[in-house]
Parts: sequence; C-alpha cells; structure tokens
Amino acid sequence: MPHPRNPQTFRVKSFGCQMNVYDGERMGELLAAQGMRAASEGEDADLVVLNTCHIRERASEKVYSDIGRLRRDDDTAPMIAVAGCVAQAEGEEIMTRAPSVSMVVGPQAYHRLPGMIEEAARGRRSTDTDMPANTKFEALPERRRAGASAFLTVQEGCDKFCTYCVVPYTRGAEISRPFSDLLREAEKLAENGAREITLLGQNVNAWTGATSSGRSLGFDDLIRELDKLPKLKRIRYTTSHPNDVTEGLIRAHGEVEKLMPFLHLPVQSGSDRVLKAMNRSHTADSYLRVIERFREARPDIAISGDFIVGFPGETDADFEDTLRLIDTVGYAQAFSFKYSPRPGTPAATMERQVPRELMDERLQRLQAALNRDQLAFNQASVGRRCEVLVERRGKKPGQWLGKSPWLQSVFFEGEAAIGDMVSVDLAEAGANSVRGLLLEPVGA
Ligand code: SAM
Ligand code: SF4
Repeated sequence: MPHPRNPQTFRVKSFGCQMNVYDGERMGELLAAQGMRAASEGEDADLVVLNTCHIRERASEKVYSDIGRLRRDDDTAPMIAVAGCVAQAEGEEIMTRAPSVSMVVGPQAYHRLPGMIEEAARGRRSTDTDMPANTKFEALPERRRAGASAFLTVQEGCDKFCTYCVVPYTRGAEISRPFSDLLREAEKLAENGAREITLLGQNVNAWTGATSSGRSLGFDDLIRELDKLPKLKRIRYTTSHPNDVTEGLIRAHGEVEKLMPFLHLPVQSGSDRVLKAMNRSHTADSYLRVIERFREARPDIAISGDFIVGFPGETDADFEDTLRLIDTVGYAQAFSFKYSPRPGTPAATMERQVPRELMDERLQRLQAALNRDQLAFNQASVGRRCEVLVERRGKKPGQWLGKSPWLQSVFFEGEAAIGDMVSVDLAEAGANSVRGLLLEPVGA
C-alpha cells in the first residue's frame, strides 16, 4: 500500500556480502544528509530499507518474510524500500507480490532514494533498476562517520560469468572507481577514525585506475598509495579472483607493512572438471601455485576461501579432490555453501543436479575439514605477539574484541578503547577466536 507520510526516521537492514554492508552505510549517510534520523535500537522506523542479497535462494527468500513482518494495515506501518540484488533481479515481481513495498531500487541506483521517498509520500510507488556506471558515487554525500575498521568499495560488478553466479546480472559489468575519488574517500574515513580500511569489490584485484598526471595504476599501486596515509594503520581487501592476481600484488604483501597478511581467494572446487563447468578459468593446480607465490612473499599469510558443494555433475571423486585441496592449503578460515540454482544462470539448467541429501552430507564433511584447519591455524598462533585493532567491547566487563593481523577475532581484558592498536600475546585458541593477554598500548 502506498504510504502518504514523510518519513522522519529510517532503518537500513543489509543482508549478504560486505559490499551490501558498504552500500547500506552509504544509504544511511544519504538519508541522514536529507535530514532523516537513524531509528534507535528498539524504535520503530518510519522508513525501512531492506538491502537484499540474491546470491543463494535462502538469502533471496528472506526479503518476502521481512516484508510480511513489517506489514500492518494501519498508518503505523513503515514505508518499505527494497534495495540490493533481489531488487535488481526481481523488481517487478516484488512490486506485484508485495503491495506494501513503496519502492524498489537496484544497487547502482540508490543515490536516487530521496526522490523516490518523496514520490512514495505522495502515494506513488516507483522502481529504479538503472545501472549507470559510477554516477551513484558522484551523487552520494561525503563520508561522515567511520568505525575503527571501515569498508571502501573500489570496484563493482563482474565480467567473469561463473555459471552458478548472479552477480554479473545483478551488479552489472566490472567497473573501477576513479583513483582520486578513492583517495578522497579513504582520507575522509581515516580522518573520521578508521584505522583499517578493507577495499571491496567482487573482483577487487581487477581494479585499475590512473593518477591525475595520467600514470596508470594497478590494484597494488592503489594499496601503495593508501599506505601513505599516516592515520591509516591497516589495509585489507576482498574478494580476489585467482586469475587477476598480479606479481605486483604478491610483492606488495612482502613489502607494504600496512597490508595485512591475509588473503581471501575463493576456489569453489578442487576438481578441474567442476571448475571448467563452473567457468572459473583456473585449475586446482594454478590456484595452488598462486597460493605458493603469496606464501613465498609473506610466509605467515593466512589463507581464506569460498567453496561450493554439489555443483551439477559433481561426483564423489570430484568432491574428494576438493577435500585434498583443502588439506594441501590449510585454510585459516573459509566460507562454504551448498550449490543453489539461481534463475537465469547457465548452471541452473545443467543436467545431473546433485540431490539435496548428498549436498548436505558433503557440506558436513567439507566443513569438518575446514573447522579442523581453522582450529589448527588458531592453535599454531598461540605464543605469537601481535597487534590487535580494537573494534568493540566484549560481552564481559573490561573485555575488548579486535582483530589480529591474520583476521582472527581476539578478545582480551584491560585498559583500551575502540580504535586503539594494542599489543597482545596470543594465549589460548578456540575454533572461532583467540584469547589475548594485553601488553602495553602502542597508541591509537
Ligand atoms: N566474486 C567473488 C568470487 O568470485 O569469489 C565472490 C562472489 S559471491 C558474492 C561469494 C560466494 O558465494 C562465491 O565465492 C561462491 O562461493 C558463493 N556463491 C555464488 N553463487 C552461488 C550459488 N549459486 N550457490 C551457492 N554458492 C554460491
Ligand atoms: Fe560471481 Fe564468479 Fe564473478 Fe565471483 S567471479 S562474482 S563468483 S561470476
């Protein structure tokens, strides 16, 4: 039902990847710049933005249950905006299926939210799923706030067309944001308190740009330029594609101190046959060689990955190949998923779809192997002294939580504040976190 009321407060609920978290923050800043206020914890918001994820069926379906929960047949119902990748892929369907939704806005068009809200307040519903490259960023207000660790989207979209994946359709073609814009945004984030910036992109290491004098820059040059910002202490990036890894990026891991020893490099499968059917354009071996080169440049680098089990046609032998690859790499952490057929992608109509029970069983075995390695990585780090960036308070009084250079969650007790870089001795390892003993603070 269209919503004839100007919203004063808003809430943005982001699902899915870190790029959505970044978009959600930018939407919040945009709405705040229009004079709206973020609803506080527990307060009903006048406008709710559901910033959705379309990567797997489960994620995609969440939007409809959320819309159902927000629906009310009186004037206390919030105005609802659906943003993100489900909006892009299923905009029309949402408008038909959910009359309580006032607007649908795609990931490249959310800078137009204020106009759409005005329309909605006049009782008119609207959809905007245009994909104008980079205009969104130009139209957004400057960054205002930043936590100790901040995201910065440097690259969007994807041209790789893995056969299972919706990203090339929902996020559009690969584009790099201009270098000068990124530098300005990074400076602003650091000024506002960010000590760590994670550079984001679906294929972040495919970023290219140029300086004002026309010198071309690769992703490693971007890292080296950001390294010069004095207030910034740490640089991370995600997600990389094995085929876009350059010698320069590998070298940067050995040379740029602020570049953290952590690499998220999805492989998806350890079977060349499956990788080919996935259109991944790398083999298990070429992937392992890339990892080796990173380890030569930075021996302590922590490796993370993504896996899909049950891709159409995956046999027991293919799955065993994946387990072998896991044994070879020794992941510090990883994400793993059951294959989810996505409408419109080539894999959705491939023959020999794997039965659900078999997928469940394979996922369990895969995750057992990954959990074992994650615990082993954490245990091997006990006894190390390292810096931790303090991100928030822990559950217990006097307890703090932060990240080690290897992206482990570290908790410790003592005098600290959010944004501090503190030295700790890693003392005790769990599967998901490590207990640290605080040494002296080394300055914010
Ligand atoms: N661009 C990145 C890459 O190539 O790794 C990340 C893409 S996606 C947002 C994150 C992960 O979701 C992928 O690496 C893949 O493991 C998983 N994924 C994507 N499509 C999927 C599907 N249809 N079913 C299950 N998992 C999927
Ligand atoms: Fe999807 Fe493949 Fe592109 Fe990653 S590289 S976003 S998995 S199509």
